[in-house]
Amino acid sequence: MAMTFLTRRRRVRWLHEPLPPRDVGTLHDSLGFYRSLTGEERTRLGQFARILIREKNWEGCGGLVLSQEIKLIIAAQAALLLIGMDLDPLRDRVFPNVRSILVYPAGFVAPLPRLGAGGVITEGHANLGEAHYNGLSGGPVIVSWRDALEGGLRADDGRNLVLHEFAHKLDFLDGVIDGTPPLDAGEDYTRWKHVMSAHHNDLVRRARARAPSVLNYYGATNPAEFFAVATEAYFERGDAMRQWLPELYVLLRGYYKQDTAARTAPPPEESGVPGGP
Ligand SMILES: [Zn+2]
Repeated sequence: MAMTFLTRRRRVRWLHEPLPPRDVGTLHDSLGFYRSLTGEERTRLGQFARILIREKNWEGCGGLVLSQEIKLIIAAQAALLLIGMDLDPLRDRVFPNVRSILVYPAGFVAPLPRLGAGGVITEGHANLGEAHYNGLSGGPVIVSWRDALEGGLRADDGRNLVLHEFAHKLDFLDGVIDGTPPLDAGEDYTRWKHVMSAHHNDLVRRARARAPSVLNYYGATNPAEFFAVATEAYFERGDAMRQWLPELYVLLRGYYKQDTAARTAPPPEESGVPGGP
């Protein structure tokens, strides 16, 4: 996806400058996953985060005054989804279907209706976040700052609001809300749908039986939520997913192109979390 010459020229100007030490300190202190990234991954994370900060329209809502720190902590979590992908920070558009990012202080009352003709998804979990689908032009991503902050600090509980909402935006890139984002040429749609639906169906059964799973039951809601929830677990519990849901892990690794299982430390007392179909 190409972008305008002017945008590219602007990026060239600032992308090669390193992140200011204060921003690096923020990432270290606020994002549990940051220390486990390689140097190159950190560089790309900083680049994509800065692109999101500069090229998206950020709005503090509900009285929240946005700071560089707040934007960086949210943008860097969204950027984590991208750092393994075949994206050139100098040339490519980044989340082209996201124009605005709205940040509320905490859980908020959704200003828009639940899933309807306009394609708005209102998350069932207490309106912590929303990803709006308005065709390819893209609606805003809405997140609660409190939950985005907590999600960043706790990088191994399998829940991350920002990863969840931006995973929806990846899914929406092809204009369809179905849990299948546009895949690279070498990837296989048939296999994707097969593996995803088998694991979705298994999660539905587990949720009904209240049986343990690596995946949050919320992913049983529908295929789109399944992809968002599986993304959270892939990044935050990669080792458990590789162990218990190896097919799903390999599929998501092929898409995100990061070996998150090698990155995350083994969770304590993980003796008995079954979860594979
Ligand atoms: Zn969702």
